[in-house]
Amino acid sequence: MPYKDILPSKVEIFGYWKDRLPDLGIFVDWGEPSCWACRFHYGTRYDIKHSGASWLEILECWERIPLQRCHIVPRSLGGPDAPPNLFLMCRECHDLAPNTPTPDLFFEWARVQSSSRRESAKIQEAMRSFSVTPDKEDDLSKIICSPAFTAWIGGKVGLHRPQSNYAPVSYRLTPATIVGLAVQYWRLGLATEISGEAPRRPAPTRSARATPST
Ligand SMILES: [Zn+2]
Repeated sequence: MPYKDILPSKVEIFGYWKDRLPDLGIFVDWGEPSCWACRFHYGTRYDIKHSGASWLEILECWERIPLQRCHIVPRSLGGPDAPPNLFLMCRECHDLAPNTPTPDLFFEWARVQSSSRRESAKIQEAMRSFSVTPDKEDDLSKIICSPAFTAWIGGKVGLHRPQSNYAPVSYRLTPATIVGLAVQYWRLGLATEISGEAPRRPAPTRSARATPST
């Protein structure tokens, strides 16, 4: 049997929540559609471009944006497929949200999500992966912001279409791409504006997990 979409449209969900979101402490700019939890913004392509937009234009914009219709109380716990139980969020938030019978827990979680904080955590994780210790973070940031590095990485960066659900649906530069190239640039001795020593590449070691048990 072909898949039948039984969820209300994004416009119906938006219509139900638009005047109720502020009561939850959630403030969304109608003209700049973004995730209602982390505020991830898909870029200006979905924004209303002019101030005199009609209500219909705003609604069309909300229907087009690749936000997902997420249950506040999951279906498996009896949550209905109706606008009061649905929330518009990015894929990452959809996967990370609490699934409980208590809507207040969902709203408490949604209120404090932040896509920029998550992105910072991913950049920090990428730094640790390339042995950049906290005392070297400032130096690495200087490299990343320098025009010489920006010129050097031209043609070396690959865009990636996310394979996991923990990412928005768009091609992106992963934090590990920029951090990895900045570390390589530093190790090659090209970061002349930095006086500190580049993070060393650790020697490959056999992990405890990979050691065969005897
Ligand atoms: Zn989100």
